[in-house]
Amino acid sequence: MVENQEKNIVSKVVVVTGGSRGIGAEIVKTLAKEGYSVILNYNKSEQCAKDVESELKKQDYAVDIFKADVSKKEEATAIINYAINKYGKIDVLINNAGISQSKLFTEITDDDWDNMMSNNLTSAFYCTREAAKNMIHNKEGVIINISSIWGITGGSMEVHYSTAKAGLIGFTKALAKELGPSNIRVNAIAPGIIATDMNKEYSKEDIEEIKSAIPLNRIGSPLSIAKCVKWLIEDDYTTGEVISINGGWHM
Ligand code: NAP
Repeated sequence: MVENQEKNIVSKVVVVTGGSRGIGAEIVKTLAKEGYSVILNYNKSEQCAKDVESELKKQDYAVDIFKADVSKKEEATAIINYAINKYGKIDVLINNAGISQSKLFTEITDDDWDNMMSNNLTSAFYCTREAAKNMIHNKEGVIINISSIWGITGGSMEVHYSTAKAGLIGFTKALAKELGPSNIRVNAIAPGIIATDMNKEYSKEDIEEIKSAIPLNRIGSPLSIAKCVKWLIEDDYTTGEVISINGGWHM
């Protein structure tokens, strides 16, 4: 096990893709505060990544930031290898990086489609393939994929997003079966609507309408997702599951 020097406690090594903003940033903060050694991956939002890093480092928590576009094989592989070279292992991979787009199906271009798949689905494939080699060797590991409610129910005007997120669910279940014998657990979280930049296009009226369809009558917070991630890491017998966190929007 690795010593977390700042806190001088044994810690797990966690890579969070897309950790600069929104849900990913909250996962990074939650896990760092639990004493895990966290590698925050960012792509475009360098300042946001640095802000999270400095907030945590001020409190002596272990966090590194690493720039990588995880939709690109070499960069996705590089972040996993950075974690392994620095700490000697990777214990937990959170495939959180993602993009969304709302468009009529007939207007989705080839580039839109390819972008959606590479950022939401292929990125998880690249990162997981590299991380799994180390986890299989260690006979231990946890992989958590951030899918979406639309990956379960399908979202109108988000066919490409829904397809990528549904793909992550198939990826999760197949991988859970294949890697279970190596003591690696693989699960997915399917959030409903969570208050992040991803939903900033919605008007106040849109948000009110969505809330009225949600039994808990409110939008979720990134912390709700981060708490579930922490639980999934600490649990020892859940694998191949898709946990829906959506205020009852879909049951
Ligand atoms: P967000 O606020 O827009 O943040 C997206 C994050 O993903 C950013 O940190 C961004 O990094 C990163 N990212 C995107 N493409 C990347 C790439 N190629 N390489 C590295 N990082 C990349 O979105 P969010 O709401 O936190 O979403 C996080 C995850 O939850 C996504 O997978 C999303 O699909 C899923 N989700 C969100 C909701 C919701 O309502 N918010 C609901 C269901 C599922 P940079 O800014 O540094 O590029």
